Amino acid sequence: MAGDETFDDVLAANEAYAQGFRLEGLEPVAAKGLAVLTCMDSRIEPLAMLGLAPGDAKILRNAGARVTDDVLRTLVLASYLLGVERAMIVAHTRCRMASGDEDGVHEAVAEAGGPDTRSLAFLVTSDQEETLREDVQRLRSWPYLTNLRVGGFLYDVDTGRLQRLC
Ligand SMILES: [Zn+2]
Repeated sequence: MAGDETFDDVLAANEAYAQGFRLEGLEPVAAKGLAVLTCMDSRIEPLAMLGLAPGDAKILRNAGARVTDDVLRTLVLASYLLGVERAMIVAHTRCRMASGDEDGVHEAVAEAGGPDTRSLAFLVTSDQEETLREDVQRLRSWPYLTNLRVGGFLYDVDTGRLQRLC
């Protein structure tokens, strides 16, 4: 759009990317049969931290790496149509969504000039590990996902190390 410079930097970067583009012909099926659900936190590099390349895995992200209806919907498609046979839920250290303070997040949005968000559930937890176990169990018991192996992990944003919890 003329006069709108909002995305100029990334469009310029994409021009350079497209000139060196090497992913043509890549199949949409996940080559390693893997899906990774993790947080939107920009300190996390999902492919790099797992030794993956483009095409290897389906990456799903949201605030807190939570199993929501949209994650379930997406994993059904990934499981039956896109070669996914195993899924990792990767929570991380120092996650705002594990602060245990849902009210505090609503207040923070308001203090940042946002609206009253109390009708939204941000899914903040006070027990990150227990929540992770519950989300893993939700996937394991979801009737539409009969052939999916699921694990729960914690990623340390200060060391880059991943630990399996369940
Ligand atoms: Zn997070």
